[in-house]
Amino acid sequence: MPNRIYYTGGTLDRAAIQRNDAAWVKRRRAGDGAFVVPVWRDKSLVVAGDNPEAVLVSGAEGRALVDMASDSALLGIDGEMSYFAVDVSACDHAALTPQIGEADFVDLREIGPLMEASQGAMLAYARGIIHWHRNHRFCGRCGGPTQSSQAGHQRTCADAACGREHYPRTDPAVIMLVTRDDGNGGGACLLGRQPTWPPGRYSTLAGFVEPGETLEAAVAREVLEETAVRVSDVRYLSSQPWPFPASLMLGFRARAETNEITVNEDEIEDARWFTRDELRRFEEDGYHFPRRGSIASWLIARWLEEGDDGE
Ligand SMILES: [Zn+2]
Repeated sequence: MPNRIYYTGGTLDRAAIQRNDAAWVKRRRAGDGAFVVPVWRDKSLVVAGDNPEAVLVSGAEGRALVDMASDSALLGIDGEMSYFAVDVSACDHAALTPQIGEADFVDLREIGPLMEASQGAMLAYARGIIHWHRNHRFCGRCGGPTQSSQAGHQRTCADAACGREHYPRTDPAVIMLVTRDDGNGGGACLLGRQPTWPPGRYSTLAGFVEPGETLEAAVAREVLEETAVRVSDVRYLSSQPWPFPASLMLGFRARAETNEITVNEDEIEDARWFTRDELRRFEEDGYHFPRRGSIASWLIARWLEEGDDGE
């Protein structure tokens, strides 16, 4: 299994101070170094193949896409180059052909793990911020329309009496590999499956963080809710942008204090303990690992690499 975290490794300078200067943004957008990253109905523009590549549109075609777009956001800069995500979802696919040529709009999750890291990270960023624009056209406080500002990093309620400022949302989700120590140098990890998944797929448990809750408490609550297993020693390992549509995955390890599993069928279909040996012959035995590109894969691969003597 690949052992890296996808959609990380972005190299752009987000220009968080300069982007508040509308004149600077306008100059950047009109300049020769402007590149457009189109997003169409949550899909990303790539040239497909064994190593899919992000399509960045510049020049007259890029400016045409900006004119056709319902929203845009400055992703960041790299020297003289500037990268703008644009939402062209309102256009018919055929109307975009002059600008995109033979490239395809695809679901990033299908091809992200095959892409060079900084490109995958940039497309994930573009998809996430455009999704936010598409879903925050109206003010959550007064219901009035909102308008984009700050180079696409803010929306402001157009009703002067309200004027509320809205910022891009990221919903934190915890995802955890629960392990148990069997005392003889071996151990097992707890994986579960949801009924909507392809047959045989098992993955780490996960869930959204609730208001007023710490990350560690969310890990313990989700594991208890889904499997009735109690955990301790909750440790943060790493995170992953997951703009599918709007999450940040926070990866944890946790130690099981109890072994017995009681599956909560409202949440998951099954949960089991798997030893490292069982995971090594997982596919042969008819099971499937989580989606390639997810941090769940990374958490499992990391535990496997630790080996039976790891901890
Ligand atoms: Zn409002």
